[in-house]
Amino acid sequence: MSKPKSEWAGVIVVGNGHELDVRLYSYQKKVSPLGLQLVHKLCKTPLNGNEEDESDAEEAPAKNAPFRAPAAGSVAQVNVQLSCPKCQRPLLTDEIGQGIVVDGTTLLLNETEAAALKFERTERVSAEYKDGKDHLILALGTRRRLIVCPKPASAGMYADLYHAFVKSGRVAFIPELVIKGTASVGILRPLKLAASVFGKERELLVLDLLNDADALRDPAEVPSYPGVLPQPEAMDLGALVKEMKMNSTPLDPESCVSPRRVRLKQVARLALERSLRG
Ligand SMILES: [Zn+2]
Repeated sequence: MSKPKSEWAGVIVVGNGHELDVRLYSYQKKVSPLGLQLVHKLCKTPLNGNEEDESDAEEAPAKNAPFRAPAAGSVAQVNVQLSCPKCQRPLLTDEIGQGIVVDGTTLLLNETEAAALKFERTERVSAEYKDGKDHLILALGTRRRLIVCPKPASAGMYADLYHAFVKSGRVAFIPELVIKGTASVGILRPLKLAASVFGKERELLVLDLLNDADALRDPAEVPSYPGVLPQPEAMDLGALVKEMKMNSTPLDPESCVSPRRVRLKQVARLALERSLRG
């Protein structure tokens, strides 16, 4: 495996001029996506793969074109005639199978194997209590956050759970939740939205879909990671701690929007004004 390239190198000036010279690396490694693909059964050639273009494929590891089975009568079957890039001819539906790419080799799946990869939505999922400060939960980080809303009859239970979660410091772990055909691991947790965000404090339950543990990068893979931190350099950490405490300010939600999005909003507003004038 090649050494990861840094995403950014530069100095982060912390607080009152504390310079931190760093490189930034992706937290997730580029794991083989185990991409599911449509394959010409005869020659095992992927039909939508771009094998030559591996560098680009790596930019979006999990986003290999979402797989759709060529169901009878589906739009895909009617409108798109798939061709095999190797055999250079259009294919009939029953010539197309499903394959999975493992270490650059395409393995043709039989029907049982293909069926095992389909996740059906269930109307009941179980959740187990976990410590909300579990280091693994923190280390994994949230891939996507969903708002949990109670149906009217559940409002009381929702409130009980919210307050019990807060008091106990526990969350509830859901090992399998299928949303639109995709199975995820998630945790149900209480969240207090500060008044600074929407003008009024809100208490709610959220469901955080977690990143995959096997997709995290071991910091030891990163060239300059020290492994074990040296002894603190400041003779008196107390002064630094004091500075941090004295100078910390509440986070402004407006400063938590990516600069690109802020710029886009400005540009969109200007374009709208221009179109109204013209
Ligand atoms: Zn072929």
